[in-house]
Amino acid sequence: MHQLKLGDYQVGRIPEIEFPAFPAREFLPASTDEMVAEAQRLLPGRITPDGKIVMSFHSFVLKTGRHTIMVDTCCGADKPRPGREQFNVGRLDYLGQLTALGVKPEEVTHVMCTHLHWDHVGWNTRLVNGQWVPTFPNAKYIMAKREYDYWDGVYQKEKDKRDNMHVLGFEDSVLPVMRAEKAVLVADNFELDKGISIEPCHGHSPGHFVINVESGGTKGVFIGDIIHHPMQLLFPDLSCRADFDMDASRVSRKALIDKHADTGTLVLPQHFATPSCGTIKRQGNAFGFDFIAGS
Ligand SMILES: [Zn+2]
Repeated sequence: MHQLKLGDYQVGRIPEIEFPAFPAREFLPASTDEMVAEAQRLLPGRITPDGKIVMSFHSFVLKTGRHTIMVDTCCGADKPRPGREQFNVGRLDYLGQLTALGVKPEEVTHVMCTHLHWDHVGWNTRLVNGQWVPTFPNAKYIMAKREYDYWDGVYQKEKDKRDNMHVLGFEDSVLPVMRAEKAVLVADNFELDKGISIEPCHGHSPGHFVINVESGGTKGVFIGDIIHHPMQLLFPDLSCRADFDMDASRVSRKALIDKHADTGTLVLPQHFATPSCGTIKRQGNAFGFDFIAGS
């Protein structure tokens, strides 16, 4: 059970999969052997002796008392992902973990999609009688209009490419939500409630947003894929190969790190291995992360 407090609110984390996912040198193309060695020394357990970065794929559920909000929905179940079978992990009890956090799918009021990559929207839908239906039947699914329009354009052009993960993810995890009229496409200044708002943070994808939360004098930020691995705090210039625009993502990442360093803001990344959440601290020209036990 991974739970922590954010002011008067509660945040649970639902891990779907965690493993040494990719060689750092490939995932962070501008990295060097020296950088990997430094990360191995300073981040034990988060990068393997053979240089692979350990990543988690998880959701957060934010309970405010008024709202129950899912932040990103991992990879999902029963979804064809050619060449990426290791992510077809629906056999793991994702919805059971949600129940263990005291949340039934029908109680979720909002699903906030930081961006529309396939490994962030998977549980948006589930397979029922051969049809993809919204997993959270009473939720509004919040997506940035800018992000939706971009991926809709990709889908219209490339939908015949059945090995394109983004095409498949958009088709089985985003379009069915739209057709069920559960999607709400929002502008860059969307505020869900007082103290819960999005902030555009582009680069990893064209319409990526982070979610700022403030409660009881505590600040938190769900950062989506702006930082994939704490090695990018040691070396903030390192963009990842999955970034849509590596230069823009570098600018967004460095601005976000700078904004939250040494402020005590609770930072909630989508891919840091367990424990996953913490605060950013300045360490000379680089940055570190104080991980919160149990998060
Ligand atoms: Zn992503």
